[in-house]
Parts: sequence; structure tokens; C-alpha cells
Amino acid sequence: ATFADLGLHPLLVAHLQSKMSITKPTSIQRTALPIFTNPSSEDMNARDVFIQSQTGSGKTMSFLLPIIHDLLPLSTHSYIDRSIGTLAIIIAPTRELAKQICDVLEALLTLKLCPEGEHEDAEGSMHYTRWLVSGLLSGGATRAHEKARLRKGVPILVSTPGRLLDHLQNTSSFDAGKCRWLVLDEADRLMELGFEETIRGIIQGLDGRRKLALQAVRDGKTFGVGGWDWDRQRRTILC
Ligand code: AMP
Repeated sequence: ATFADLGLHPLLVAHLQSKMSITKPTSIQRTALPIFTNPSSEDMNARDVFIQSQTGSGKTMSFLLPIIHDLLPLSTHSYIDRSIGTLAIIIAPTRELAKQICDVLEALLTLKLCPEGEHEDAEGSMHYTRWLVSGLLSGGATRAHEKARLRKGVPILVSTPGRLLDHLQNTSSFDAGKCRWLVLDEADRLMELGFEETIRGIIQGLDGRRKLALQAVRDGKTFGVGGWDWDRQRRTILC
């Protein structure tokens, strides 16, 4: 199967091929992508998705591609503006991992997917991609600097857990009310490193009224993050 066969947005398919020379989905991508691009009724009911595969198997793109695919049709803004808010949040256990994810994300968004940042679809509607901006919160910058960055609008945010919770609770710059995606990369490590309470706090900070069920399994051990329940619109990916 090709990425087009898997139902991936044509702008992404073209971008992967021409800018990154990526034409063939990996095994985990062939499994994960259709859950989001062409969901069965069973997939629609399963709000949380658990992706498990080895490092080097293309796991990062197996969640980044569905997120970009989902956000592309929302592109009615020609430029980033604060009102867009944060639509996707990816949490990684360490600074290094967060940086690596952000690098892949940046590569996927290079040139904002097409040279002019504007794209006319088959029906003649105009889509803009320049607003699709990524941001990294990892404690590598001052809180004030991060806050200023968040204020400008960060549609796709990659963060370590502590920093994210800090901004959710302590700065007024964060608008995650429209967040549609939450990814917990290396969820088992997040739990092992003692981030369970922080993740709980983040979920409450994102939307106190809604709840989410999180679970990660490794070596037969289950790590629970409480009996939460989440809005169907939003997808949680545990890796
Ligand atoms: P990961 O497993 O996410 O750490 O990805 C490992 C490497 O594989 C990264 O450098 C990706 O850019 C690359 N990669 C991901 N998907 C593909 C693909 N379908 N074809 C070729 N390389 C890929």
C-alpha cells in the first residue's frame, strides 16, 4: 500500500515524496493511519488508540501524520493567529525525545506543505497551510519566553509533562479549549518516571469537565491513569 492508498491527505502524500523521499509506509503506519483516515464504526467508538512498536519503526510519523491530516481541512486561516489555539498536544517523557518529535514535525511542515502556503482543492476551495505551526516546550527556554511563544498561537505543541502543566496552571497564555489530540509518547516511561499525577493534572487543565481513560502496557504490567472519559472528538494516542 502507498500513503495515498491509506487515505492520507494528498498534500501530505506529495510532501512526503518530494521533500522527504518517503513513499512507502512502514508496517506500524499501515496499521495506524487507516484508524484515523478511514475509521470503521468500531474505530469511531474507540476514542483512545494504543500504538506499540519499536523505536526506528516509524512510530513518530504514525501519530504525526494523522494529526496533520486531521488539521489540514481546518485551514481557513491564511496566517497563524492566537485565536486558533492549541489543537494537538504531544507529551514526551524527556526533553531529548520532545526535541526529536518536534524535529520530525518541523520536517513534515517544511514550506508549510506547499510553496505558497496556499492550496486549491479539487472543488476549487482554497486551503491555507501557513498557520500550521509547531512549538516545543521542554524547559530549555525561560518560562516568560515560552509564554510569549504560546501567546502567538501554537497549533501543534510538543512538550515535556512538567512544563505543560506549569503553563496550563500558571500562565494566561494557553488556549487549549479546542484541543483535538493528545498523544502520550512512551506512555509507559511517563508512568515509570512518576508523571501520573502530572498527566492527570494536564487532562484536568485541558478540560475539567471531560475525562479520559489512559492505559499503557509493557512487560505485562498495566499503568492506569484513572477512570477518565473523554470527548469523542478528541483522540488520545498512547505509544
Ligand atoms: P521512529 O521510529 O519514529 O523513530 O522513526 C525512525 C526513522 O524512520 C525516522 O528518521 C523517520 O524519518 C524515518 N521514517 C519514518 N517513516 C518512514 C517511512 N515510511 N519510510 C522511510 N523512512 C521513514
